[in-house]
Amino acid sequence: MAAADFGAGFDEEVDLLVIGAGAGGMTAALSGAIAGLKVLLCEKTDLVGGTTATSGGTTWAPGTELSRRAGVPDSAEDAAEFLRHVVGNRGGEDLRAAFLASSAEAIADLERNSEVRFVAATAHPDYLDGPGSAHGGRALAPVEFDGRLLGEDFRRVRPPRDVFMGLGGMMVGRAELGALLNPLASLANLKTTLRMVLRHFRDRIGHARGTRILMGNALVGRLFYSLRQKNVPIWFDSPLADFIRVEGEVVGAAIRTPQGLRRVRARRGVVLATGGLAWSKALRDKLFPAQIAPFSQAPATNSGDGVALATERLGAALDDGGDSAGLWMPCSTLKKPDGSFSIWPHILLDRAKPGLIAVGPDGRRFVNESDSYHDFCTGMIGAGLKEAWLIVDDAFVRRYGLGLVLPGGRGLNRLLRAGYLTRGATLEALAQAVGVDPRGLAESVAANNRFAAEGLDRDFGRGTSAMNRFNGDPEVKGNPCLGPISATGPFYALKVVPVDLASSGGLRIDPNGAVLDAAGQVIPGLYACGNDASSIFRGTYPGPGTTIGPAMVFGWRIARHAATA
Ligand SMILES: Cc1cc2nc3c(=O)[nH]c(=O)nc-3n(C[C@H](O)[C@H](O)[C@H](O)COP(=O)(O)OP(=O)(O)OC[C@H]3O[C@@H](n4cnc5c(N)ncnc54)[C@H](O)[C@@H]3O)c2cc1C
Repeated sequence: MAAADFGAGFDEEVDLLVIGAGAGGMTAALSGAIAGLKVLLCEKTDLVGGTTATSGGTTWAPGTELSRRAGVPDSAEDAAEFLRHVVGNRGGEDLRAAFLASSAEAIADLERNSEVRFVAATAHPDYLDGPGSAHGGRALAPVEFDGRLLGEDFRRVRPPRDVFMGLGGMMVGRAELGALLNPLASLANLKTTLRMVLRHFRDRIGHARGTRILMGNALVGRLFYSLRQKNVPIWFDSPLADFIRVEGEVVGAAIRTPQGLRRVRARRGVVLATGGLAWSKALRDKLFPAQIAPFSQAPATNSGDGVALATERLGAALDDGGDSAGLWMPCSTLKKPDGSFSIWPHILLDRAKPGLIAVGPDGRRFVNESDSYHDFCTGMIGAGLKEAWLIVDDAFVRRYGLGLVLPGGRGLNRLLRAGYLTRGATLEALAQAVGVDPRGLAESVAANNRFAAEGLDRDFGRGTSAMNRFNGDPEVKGNPCLGPISATGPFYALKVVPVDLASSGGLRIDPNGAVLDAAGQVIPGLYACGNDASSIFRGTYPGPGTTIGPAMVFGWRIARHAATA
């Protein structure tokens, strides 16, 4: 079906047509409604939320009033200096300037005019040190949301990842994990545990999962609730089929709805926010390095539609994302009895702790294990590794847990039986069991133990950045990321592979979020945000929330531009 074949007859007419209900699309739709536009949001699946609903929800937004309220004032100027240091001359200064100019205002506007609420974390350091880096105030956390406010619509919120829920559907925050794992350790722990568990059991009488939702799920719940309050229609099970163009301008789109193909006129633009490259094999093959696992952490229904259609139909420019076409997390996988996989992203709970090393098949370390998940995987890619092993001793597993094994060693035997991780009585036996060079591993462990005694990682500088130390063990004096690995077994190895958490390559946009063609010209009537737009950080990963932050801020900017253009 050629884009121009639709002619002028329309089934529906709106100001702004938004495609995809994740952080980017929901923010564009909500901000459009706040700005007085008539908005329609079309979602491919029967759920809102996309990857956003399954994420941490942390939102990097420099210079907000929230940072001042939290007592850790941040400024856009500091963030600009930091980004100059991190991103340097990789291009895209105009996009970062636009982001910094609007981040505080976008968040304030959403908080003033909707139910979107954040709190600035007092301590959540940027992922790299440098002039202008922040220890707190810059990363915003969505305030928990009561899903019961959505009534029947609660079932429309995409659930979190299975591995982030306990007791068959209860969300647990990082701060609550300690209490739940040790309910009898203190009265406060007991109270927290009882409050959460009682609420959860009450919830389960009427709902398929707990209604006290956190992180990315709370952000999506809040955006959805706000859209409902503003009476923004959402068409579910309604993917974008094609664009409608008149004389080079995108004037609307054809949507495949359960009632058939509907032609929607969009007077002020169409916004693509379908979640980036994700599962598109063609786009992954084109842009991702060979080391990346052949699966994504995005929902399987995120199949790269927006990017593919805009490039194929409209000649939109596909940007390779700068240093990296994707943003990565090292993940371990558990094969479930039904043949499906649980994916555990090693975000922060274990990698940075003292007494863990990561090695390749040669038994050698290749990276600072405590660096950000993206930089850890960049280290893997640089070393040509498709897989690596996290190596720890028994005391480590019992103290910190490892992936799906919880602190205290909970779940260890079950997960060993399931083949999730491997145990060896000696380092040599462990190395042989997982196919790692025993000599290399023995030498790496010996070096780790020397570095731990010295408090200095002479190979990779582990524990030297604020973010490294933040995720280390505060009870370990000296270097909180370095600790010895025991001389006696058992030892454990857990395989990790690099998996995309977001794409960085995507459609080239201008500071208004307008999509550009290969010649750098605006394609009139077409916008993109979220992962459909290429990352403004050019393949670097400056800090926590640096995909959702720009997704929301550009969603907001697009709505403002569409309302005033
Ligand atoms: C474990 C994990 C934790 C993360 N934590 C964070 C974090 O704390 N902070 C952060 O910044 N980033 C985080 N990320 C990354 C972040 O989740 C994503 O970058 C972000 O959510 C992408 O938002 P989006 O709006 O672009 O896409 P999505 O949220 O994926 O939304 C896209 C939507 O478009 C719909 N869609 C797809 N195709 C079509 C079509 N043809 N027509 C209509 N609709 C369509 C999809 O169904 C989906 O609902 C995390 C990722 C993972 C995997």
